[in-house]
Amino acid sequence: MPQELNYWLTTVKIPTPPQQPLPEKADVAIIGAGFTGLSAALSLAKRGDKVVVLESETIGWGASSRNGGMVLTGLKLGVNKLISMYGRELARRMYAASLESIDAVERMVKEENIVCDFARTGHLEVACKQAHFDDYARQVEVIAREFNHRLRVVSRDQLRGEVGSDIYYGGMVDEISAGLNPARYVAGLGAAAMRAGAQVCERTRLLNIQRQACDGAPGFKLNSSRGAIWARNVLVGTSGYTGAGTPELRKKIIPIGSFVITTQVLADALARELSPRNRQIYDSKNYLYYYRLTPDNRMLFGGRAAFFPETDQTIRKSAEILRRGMIEVFPQLLHTKVEYVWGGTLDFCFDIMPHAGQLDGIYFAVGYAGHGVAMATYQGQKMAEWIAEGKTNNPFTEIRFPGAPWGLYNGKRWFLPFAGAYYKVLDWVS
Ligand SMILES: Cc1cc2nc3c(=O)[nH]c(=O)nc-3n(C[C@H](O)[C@H](O)[C@H](O)COP(=O)(O)OP(=O)(O)OC[C@H]3O[C@@H](n4cnc5c(N)ncnc54)[C@H](O)[C@@H]3O)c2cc1C
Repeated sequence: MPQELNYWLTTVKIPTPPQQPLPEKADVAIIGAGFTGLSAALSLAKRGDKVVVLESETIGWGASSRNGGMVLTGLKLGVNKLISMYGRELARRMYAASLESIDAVERMVKEENIVCDFARTGHLEVACKQAHFDDYARQVEVIAREFNHRLRVVSRDQLRGEVGSDIYYGGMVDEISAGLNPARYVAGLGAAAMRAGAQVCERTRLLNIQRQACDGAPGFKLNSSRGAIWARNVLVGTSGYTGAGTPELRKKIIPIGSFVITTQVLADALARELSPRNRQIYDSKNYLYYYRLTPDNRMLFGGRAAFFPETDQTIRKSAEILRRGMIEVFPQLLHTKVEYVWGGTLDFCFDIMPHAGQLDGIYFAVGYAGHGVAMATYQGQKMAEWIAEGKTNNPFTEIRFPGAPWGLYNGKRWFLPFAGAYYKVLDWVS
C-alpha cells in the first residue's frame, strides 16, 4: 500500500502565518486560503485594502495543494453546449476569459517569483471511443471559427508521438496549456499575499455571516471559531469545501472526490516513452482519468475513483482502482511502485460551469469542475477588481446560477452515489 500522503507537499514548505489575534475590522474578509482566496487577497492588499483571510485549516489545505497541477484552457462544458446555452457573444467572452486565465497564472508566477515549475507543455485529450475522436474534428473547427483558438487533432497512428499507450482512438492537442507544482504555487501565492499586507488567519473556521452596519457603514459580522470580525465586504472562495457557514452557496455546489497516485521516479527513457512531449493528459470519459509526469519524472495518475470526498477508506480504495487504471493505459508500469496516494474535493455546479457573483450581498467565486488552477487564480483577481472598483466585466457573473432541480439538494451528500452511477452509465452509452 502506498503512503497516504500528498506527494506535492513533500516538495515544499507551506508558509505559516504569524499567530495574531483576529482583528476587529477589515475592508474585505475572504473565506478560504486556496487559489481563489489568496489571489483575491493579493490583489486587494496591493490596492491598499485591509484584507483578512479566514482559513479553517492551513494555507492551501484544500484542493489547491492536492490537484494535478494542470493549467488548462477551456471550460469543462463542451463548446457547442456553451454556445447553445449562452449564445455566441457571451460564450466567446467566457472562452476568452478561460484562455486569459492561463496568462494570469503565468504573470502571477513571474511577478511574484513563485518557483513552481510552471511550463507551457500543452495538454492532450485522448479519445476512449471512435465517436469521441470523430467529435474532435468538429470541436477544433468550432473553436477556431468561434473563438479564434487553434487546436490540433492527432490521429491514432500518430498518437505514439504524444503518449506511450495504444488504447486510444486519437487525440486533440492544445499547445497553450501548462503544468505546474500546485503546492509550490499555492505556497507562493500565500507568501505573496502576506508580503502585500494581507493577514491570513489559519485554523479559523467561519461559522456564519450576518448583515450588520458598523459606525453607519453597511457590512457584515462574521462569527468564526476564533471570535467575530466585521468587514465591509466578504468574498467566499471555499470551492468543494463550502460548508454550513454559507448555507445558500452550499446548496448550489456538489462536492465530488478526486484521487491521485504517483509512482516512484521513472527512468528517463521510460518517462519519455510514456509522455514524449510532457503533456498534461486526460481522457474523453465523464468518469475520466488524468495524468502527467511530475517535474522529477513520476507518473501522476488521477481520477474520480470514488465519488465521495476523501476519507481514509475512499483513498485506500482509490489507490487500487487508479493503479489498475494506470496499468490499463500504460502496461509498461506493471512493475512500477506506487509511492503516494491522496484525495481532494472538487466543486461542481449543476450546470458544470464556473460561477461568480453575489448572494445576499456576499461575493463568491466557485464551480471550477476540475479546471480551477487557472480559473480560480483569474476569478480571485476579477473578484478583487469588482470589490475595489464597484464594477466588473467578468462574464461568469452574467450567467444564471442554477440550484438543484426541484430544490432537491440541501448540501448534504446523499445523492452522490446516484450521480456517480449516472456518469458511469453515460460512459457506457455515449
Ligand atoms: C485531486 C484533485 C485534482 C485536481 N486537478 C486539477 C487540475 O489538474 N487542474 C485544474 O485546473 N484543477 C484541478 N483540480 C481543481 C482545483 O484544484 C480547484 O478547482 C482549485 O484548487 C479551487 O481553489 P479554491 O481556492 O477555490 O478552493 P480550495 O483550494 O479548495 O480552498 C478552499 C479553502 O476553503 C477553506 N474553507 C472551507 N470552509 C471554510 C470555512 N467555513 N471557514 C474558513 N475556511 C473554509 C478550506 O479549508 C480550503 O482550504 C483538482 C482538484 C482535486 C481535488
